Amino acid sequence: MLSTMMQFPLTLTPLLDRVERIFPHVEMVSRRPDTSLHRQTYADFARRSRQLASALRRAGMQPGDRVATLMWNHHAHVEAYFGIPCAGGVLHTLNLRLHPDDLTYIVTHAEDRFVIVDDVLWPLWEKVAPRVAIEKTIVVSWKGGPLPEGVIDYEAFLASGDASEPLPTLDENAPLGMCYTSGTTGKPKGVVYSHRAIVLHSFAVCLTDGLGLSNRDVMLPVVPQFHANAWGLPFASVMAGTKQVLPGPHLDAANLLDLFVREQVTLAAGVPTVWMAILQTLDANPGKYTLTKGMRMLVGGSAAPESMIRGFDRHGAAILHAWGMTELSPLGTVATVKKGIEDGGEDAVYAARSKQGLPSPFVEMRAVSDTGEVPWDGAAQGELQVRGPWVAASYYGTEDTSDRWTEDGWFRTGDVVTIDKDAYLKLTDRTKDLIKSGGEWISSVELENEIMGHPAVAEAAVIAISHPKWVERPLACVVLKPGQSLSFEELREFLKPRVAAWWLPDLVEYVDAIPRTSTGKFLKSALRERFKDLVSNA
Ligand code: AMP
Repeated sequence: MLSTMMQFPLTLTPLLDRVERIFPHVEMVSRRPDTSLHRQTYADFARRSRQLASALRRAGMQPGDRVATLMWNHHAHVEAYFGIPCAGGVLHTLNLRLHPDDLTYIVTHAEDRFVIVDDVLWPLWEKVAPRVAIEKTIVVSWKGGPLPEGVIDYEAFLASGDASEPLPTLDENAPLGMCYTSGTTGKPKGVVYSHRAIVLHSFAVCLTDGLGLSNRDVMLPVVPQFHANAWGLPFASVMAGTKQVLPGPHLDAANLLDLFVREQVTLAAGVPTVWMAILQTLDANPGKYTLTKGMRMLVGGSAAPESMIRGFDRHGAAILHAWGMTELSPLGTVATVKKGIEDGGEDAVYAARSKQGLPSPFVEMRAVSDTGEVPWDGAAQGELQVRGPWVAASYYGTEDTSDRWTEDGWFRTGDVVTIDKDAYLKLTDRTKDLIKSGGEWISSVELENEIMGHPAVAEAAVIAISHPKWVERPLACVVLKPGQSLSFEELREFLKPRVAAWWLPDLVEYVDAIPRTSTGKFLKSALRERFKDLVSNA
């Protein structure tokens, strides 16, 4: 055997050491609940993360113990991202939009021992606390004033730790964190991330043809830290020494735009709903906000309509479309524009940017139909299957999930896709949202994106309703912008040049809002339930 390289575990600890040494003055800015700004440097962050690690170990946390967080995006939450795993614990981020019953299930299932909670989220935690076996409750106090009985203040807890205490040596395959998926059906399922997975994922985030995150960036995650670790951005930012701007509970367009301008944000990340609201505000207030030149807006979680990508280009900001899943840590593909695509002209570039993109290095993908793997021709559809070093190998503590992993070791995403000859992935649907009309599939996602291109439409979701002859036909559920109108006939006329004739919706229902999941995706099961008795006779 030739001797090769050192065995050097890929864990978070060297990243913490490095940011402290190399980028001590880079800032981390957080919006407090009262909207004022809190500022600290990476030197402060590293010291406090080490204190947290030490305090947790002194409080009896053992390797592999789960420490839950119920927090908005802010500096203390990023300290938990490092302090907990660097002490050998497992960071378990709780989704603060869930019902207390679901949180109770998740905390119990994960066997969380400790929890760190924002005081402003106490009204929610209070409903969970009596029903779960948490041993120590640590509260981040934003409001000041007395804390509930039996809890410890976060700052006092940090003070019980010693930043100079050496951190333990960790195995790169040790668990770092866990996150429960926000599935729209069935019980939530836990995904456990290893140190190695998160470190490799961070490299992918920093690749120029990934998200291109660097020390020169200013990164703002609108995506919550409980949603697949804010898409891994806080970890990757520490790797790259990137300034972080954390919006706290204030996720409305005006507060976000204020931070974009004030802190000169260069990369912000969130689901399409957030960007729709921001685009409407920018359009309605020409000249009011000057975004940083070349600002990128990372969009994932749901499809980014082409109209939105074009809309932001008018404001000098580039939408960067990406696809991922909780089970993928979460980044899978990014819609960067491959050399040569420009030769096809502007429309070809927009078409590429509207797709979900090219797979990251180490993310392998294939699309599989009933008859086997489909060709990469941009037309044949199949279920997307993936594998790679940051793809989950199982769900935590769940007996039979063999339906999600194939015998030859691929993860079944439940997304229906095409892959084109240039290797761009395009998501056409979730398997359960597809509309099958006369034996042919209609992509609800594509139809929605076209409808959302109409200037009178704020948002739209398309679901199947039954039809005596075609079995299923599309129903468009449309939310109009304030003061706008759009008749069914006008909608069909608008769509005619854009989609195949048989894709045109049979009916339209005007609704006040599209119901959403706790992570901002369209909750189509709720629409299907609401319109279950609707039959098309068109
Ligand atoms: P989650 O685990 O909550 O992040 O949800 C993952 C799912 O979100 C994927 O399986 C897709 O169905 C959907 N998704 C994520 N990114 C995109 C995207 N860019 N376009 C369309 N759907 C997406």
